[in-house]
Amino acid sequence: MSVANGRQFLSIPGPTNVPDVVLQAMMRPAVDIYTGPLVAMTDALLADLKKIFRTQGNTYIYAANGHGGWEAALSNVLSRGDHVLALESGRFALGWAEMAKVMGAEIEVLPGEWHRAVAPAAVEARLAADKSHRIKAIMVVQVDTASGVVNDIAAIRRAIDAAKHPALLMVDCVASLGCMPFEMDAWGVDVAMAGSQKGLMTPPGLAFVASGPRAEAVHKTANMKTHYWDWTFRQGPEHYQKYCGTPPEHLLFAQRAALDMLLAEGLEAAWHRHALLARATHAAVAAWSEGQVLAFNVRDPRERAMSITNVRVNGINSALLTDYTREKCGVTLGLGIGGYEGKAFRIAHMGHTNAPMVLGTLGAIEMGLKALKIPHGSGGVNAAIDSLAAAVPA
Ligand SMILES: *Cc1c(COP(=O)(O)O)cnc(C)c1O
Repeated sequence: MSVANGRQFLSIPGPTNVPDVVLQAMMRPAVDIYTGPLVAMTDALLADLKKIFRTQGNTYIYAANGHGGWEAALSNVLSRGDHVLALESGRFALGWAEMAKVMGAEIEVLPGEWHRAVAPAAVEARLAADKSHRIKAIMVVQVDTASGVVNDIAAIRRAIDAAKHPALLMVDCVASLGCMPFEMDAWGVDVAMAGSQKGLMTPPGLAFVASGPRAEAVHKTANMKTHYWDWTFRQGPEHYQKYCGTPPEHLLFAQRAALDMLLAEGLEAAWHRHALLARATHAAVAAWSEGQVLAFNVRDPRERAMSITNVRVNGINSALLTDYTREKCGVTLGLGIGGYEGKAFRIAHMGHTNAPMVLGTLGAIEMGLKALKIPHGSGGVNAAIDSLAAAVPA
């Protein structure tokens, strides 16, 4: 038996659901890349990305996925042998750090637990001990998509300032931009990066980097620079320089449509929508957790991301549940990654997502828990509905 036929639900943390208008924006002939509307579109996209990152700094668009955005960010500000501090709160800062190591940086990991946010006091203590200022950059993710942790970037900046340390603050916003507040300039972030395919509702293939004045100054002498990623070249007068080659024009049409949607909704309204859907999801998981098998990976509610919830499954293989929701209901959940394989599933509530999509996903999970006779507290979906009904009055 299966009730899977119908609209398939992709509830994984990237790529996320692409709105129909964004898909349709790509259904058009190729256009000239030297003159005309595409040139103006590039300028408008770069300007609108500043609004999304909340910066007066520079923005860059790369034909790349998030990993390309990581390399773009690193190569423009680091020099070989630079000492870099990666703040651990899950898989992704470590992955970014491994990339920096391959590129020739010396990596130090500030150890952290995967169910906790980075502790700003630990950052301050480590930096205060670095009297000679060997550490050139600090790498952190705002939301770690593997653990479901959200880090307090403003508090990390205050910790850096309290230690009077000059290191650049570099932030991965791939799983948070468009989903929760990010204030590049107000929080003193020097380099931020993101990708098109998560909160920004566009197919994978574009990476975005934003740089502040301190990062642009360091860039001048950074020796990891390579031609493709180089900010200086991309600031040149010719349109093709902005992409170091042919612009990925259909992805740009798509991203244009997605940013139009996001700006029409309002960035703050989108953040608020994500918060309400996250709270509803958390209400469901809290109810299910009473059965002692499911549990939040992130114990402190204040450290749980607004875009992704990581649910631990104790004593049984989580694949039983994720296979059930996929095969029987047409709902694809995120699997546990980075050591959580078989021990967790992840519910994405990120990007183009509304109440019925989240409630439908939660409903399929609860159906699976019942059908598989996995012990769980009842009423998770009801708790989610109550949470939304209270937050969204008539
Ligand atoms: C998805 C993700 C990435 C990597 O993006 P890719 O497009 O898969 O290369 C990096 N950081 C975070 C936080 C992510 O969620």
